[in-house]
Amino acid sequence: MKTTTLIAAVSMLLPLVQAAVPSHFSDRAKEILSDSVAVQPGEHPLNIVYFLGNDNEPVADYERRLSEIMHYVQQFYAKEMTRNGFPGRSFGMQMLENGNVKFHLVRGKHPHREYAYATGHGKCLEDIREYAAAHANTICSDHILVIMPTFHDEEYNDLQPGGVPFYGLGRNCFALDYAHFDLRHLGQNTHEGRLLTKWLGGLAHELGHGLNLPHNEGTVSEKAALGTPLMGAGNYTLGMKPTYLTLNSARLLDRCQVFAPAGDKTEFYSECPAPQVQASSLKWEGDTLKLAVTCSNCEYVNVLVQDPPYQVNQDYDAVAFCTEAQPAADGFCTYTLTIPVAELAARRNTGKAEQGIDILLVQKNGNRYRWRTVFDWSTLKKDDVIPLTNPGQMWQGY
Ligand code: ZN
Repeated sequence: MKTTTLIAAVSMLLPLVQAAVPSHFSDRAKEILSDSVAVQPGEHPLNIVYFLGNDNEPVADYERRLSEIMHYVQQFYAKEMTRNGFPGRSFGMQMLENGNVKFHLVRGKHPHREYAYATGHGKCLEDIREYAAAHANTICSDHILVIMPTFHDEEYNDLQPGGVPFYGLGRNCFALDYAHFDLRHLGQNTHEGRLLTKWLGGLAHELGHGLNLPHNEGTVSEKAALGTPLMGAGNYTLGMKPTYLTLNSARLLDRCQVFAPAGDKTEFYSECPAPQVQASSLKWEGDTLKLAVTCSNCEYVNVLVQDPPYQVNQDYDAVAFCTEAQPAADGFCTYTLTIPVAELAARRNTGKAEQGIDILLVQKNGNRYRWRTVFDWSTLKKDDVIPLTNPGQMWQGY
């Protein structure tokens, strides 16, 4: 048997997890993607939509450029999941035979100006729903990334892109395309290079929201070692400076539908009993907070500590921690965590009095609950027990 035949025969037996970088990719993309890690195959890939109004056209060469970019982003997530203890896990993508990513080219019913940043998402998602209904089985999961070409007007153009939706919204997220959105500019100290970091980092960050991730900041020692978390200010550093995913984010992605490996039969986001908290305590020991929560129906318990205000987009400073689990009686688990105050940069630097501690309960099927307690550092004495709010006040959603 010839070697090539043997390889072909073996590859038919094994899941094809690491396709070679396609030959039509740019030389720079081939160089950047040369250290790719194998990605575990899944069954529910992320849907990627290239969305147009009824009067505009895709940006030139978008299939190659955005395929390279999506490979890069998939690799960022895969490498960071691997580092966090989830080897080769990343979001799946629908692929074409030539190695490009499959983009669903959806043409909306309205002129492209009607799909603008502030209000365009509703009409866009409505048009995508119609597309999905008309093309059975082509939308393969609950998560959609929508990419629209930049506006061209007195404010926006290919050197200053914008105008279109650019944010996460539930399991949907929006990013944009423009002529210089190309991996060949990665890491370059040029206008195109800085633009690329902004919009590539932005795409990866908004995609994180669309994959169930809230904002989070790293601990002092983690940031010193690893750089900037993608779900903090990492949208401004990806590709230019060290950027990472916190373990907190990785645990949420482990319970995200498009990260599930083939054969995982979890019914993601289906209704299931809420977590039941049996016991909980939070104690101030003078230089550390000690948290313990005993609950059921949970896969992970994550923790975020942040300054007020607590609203979305005021929460980039929420420092992420992860509990450790020990089985308790009757199907319950006890989740414990020690938070050294030295790891909270804002607390250390400003000595702010009030902070909130959010306990995020993550279920196996990806459903999430958040449970917030606000406390005042200035009133704490050593060995004080901080009363946690009633667990009945936890809310579902993120
Ligand atoms: Zn964000």
